[in-house]
Amino acid sequence: MELKAFPPVKGKHNLENYEDLYQHFKWDQAEKEFSWHQTGKVNLAYEAIDRHAENYRANKVALHYFHPSRKETYTFKDLKKLSNKAGNVLKKVGNVKKGDRVFIFMPRSPELYFALIGAIKLGAIVGPLFEAFMEDAVKDRLHDSEAKVIITTPELVNRIPHTELPALETIFIVGEDVQEDDKTKDFLQYFRSASIELDIEWVDRKDGLILHYTSGSTGKPKGVLHVHNAMIQHYQTAKWVLDLQEDDVYWCTADPGWVTGTSYGIFGPWLTGSTNVVAGGRFSPDIWYKTIETFGVTVWYSAPTSFRMLMAAGDTVTEKYTLSSLRHILSVGEPLNPEVIRWGHEVFGHRIHDTWWMTETGAQLICNLPCMDIKLGSMGKPLPGIEAVILDDNGNILPPNQMGNLAIKKGWPSMMHTIWNNQEKFNSYFQHDEWYVSGDSAYMDEEGYFWFQGRVDDVIMTAGERVGPFEVESKLIEFPAVAEAGVIGKPDPIRGEIIKAFIALVDGYKETDELKEEIRIFVKTGLAAHAAPREIEFCEKLPKTRSGKIMRRVLKAWELGLPTGDLSTMED
Ligand code: ATP
Ligand code: MG
Repeated sequence: MELKAFPPVKGKHNLENYEDLYQHFKWDQAEKEFSWHQTGKVNLAYEAIDRHAENYRANKVALHYFHPSRKETYTFKDLKKLSNKAGNVLKKVGNVKKGDRVFIFMPRSPELYFALIGAIKLGAIVGPLFEAFMEDAVKDRLHDSEAKVIITTPELVNRIPHTELPALETIFIVGEDVQEDDKTKDFLQYFRSASIELDIEWVDRKDGLILHYTSGSTGKPKGVLHVHNAMIQHYQTAKWVLDLQEDDVYWCTADPGWVTGTSYGIFGPWLTGSTNVVAGGRFSPDIWYKTIETFGVTVWYSAPTSFRMLMAAGDTVTEKYTLSSLRHILSVGEPLNPEVIRWGHEVFGHRIHDTWWMTETGAQLICNLPCMDIKLGSMGKPLPGIEAVILDDNGNILPPNQMGNLAIKKGWPSMMHTIWNNQEKFNSYFQHDEWYVSGDSAYMDEEGYFWFQGRVDDVIMTAGERVGPFEVESKLIEFPAVAEAGVIGKPDPIRGEIIKAFIALVDGYKETDELKEEIRIFVKTGLAAHAAPREIEFCEKLPKTRSGKIMRRVLKAWELGLPTGDLSTMED
């Protein structure tokens, strides 16, 4: 553990004194910003777009869209009109009403954002899907949620098995020369002539907003329902954690098919009236750096897997671009390896701030704030208004430095409202009275920093020692030849489990037994003898979810020759 390795950079941050605010903050102090104090009713889309379109931000850039073949810019005033138009199409042609599930299944394009905001304006519950989902994944989600409408593209429409989905009334296609039938409608044709005026459906704070199916790292994805009340926390964390200020140009790299791509790719930035960059197309170090350079991105939110790929791409790529606009960098989705923070500090001149949260929590809960010292490998401290503890399996609070179940006191504003069609699953998170039990294993140190160890199911018991896979993986990637590593426990008659590491090498390295041995010794001397992998297997790439998480359950199933379970969210 390295103490205070990276002290905060001086400057004006939205949250300057964490300890003080933590003592005094109550969530109702955060609600002052929104107009519902006059109306009693809310709509997130109004607060995120129309409110700004009607004030001094009307002509401020809300969206920079960037794709190798399309580059467009929209102000808040533009987005108000265009989302109204989309809302009118959904209402008049799709008969969408409050509470209906409207799915969006398309690559990131401006139309995706118009449609999503338009649907929310009608009080509908939006369900975003990754464009890469295949037929079964699409069917499961539309069936489970009884979706009424879906918006898609000509390339993807064949993956919607509409004859097996009785609740699905309308399929809107966004594209040219769309052949209409009684179910299929040409979205753009109606959109072009739709009115720019739309009456917003005012809803209650507990009314449905978005239905996100989880990433599927540990099993079958669950439909997590969030309500409009979550905007309080989207807004407040965009201020505190993203540190968004009036002049910032913000880029979140996540797809809206994953919760980060909505909570922090749409809601947080627009609720705070920020300029938001959306980049379409696939990951490529050149295109990513080019995006930062082109728009002068100041605040950048991405994921460890992307940072690791940029790191593996090497500094010669980084040096081709001007990245000096960056002032604040954040990460989410997986543990952030210390090596990645060191690299980031070197090449960008900034610390990368890890943030911890889950689909179910709706917004960030435990974070490294700009005003705090960063301990490398720690996910930071609970935000003001958030009480986090480590519980044993009986629900007792453990003292510092003991590994256990990471749990949060119930009742933060963006907590999930339910799991769709699965009350039993919902209840399973709340077996210890007032605590939400996350399923992640962690410990807290004496200074209140939290340290992620792994999913509870992934923690390895080897020769009587509990080893978190994250520690081993982080040590492994410090070895120059290792690009990425996934570590599992493999059953062993003597040791209970042994540590097995799956390793993807940096381009140019050869897969040899000598290299395996060098890697083993590196972990043994750098971490601990019992933490060194007894088995190492090289693989071209690790199985990952679409949101970039290493799927250890798949590695384990491969290893044991067991069925791999639901693979709908796995990358190609
Ligand atoms: P499923 O619940 O379907 O198995 P998932 O848990 O991967 O999938 P998400 O809700 O997208 O789905 O991911 C949340 C999980 O990601 C957390 O429970 C945690 O295990 C991991 N995670 C997120 N952020 C961090 C972080 N900063 N450090 C460590 N782990 C993180
Ligand atoms: Mg999960």
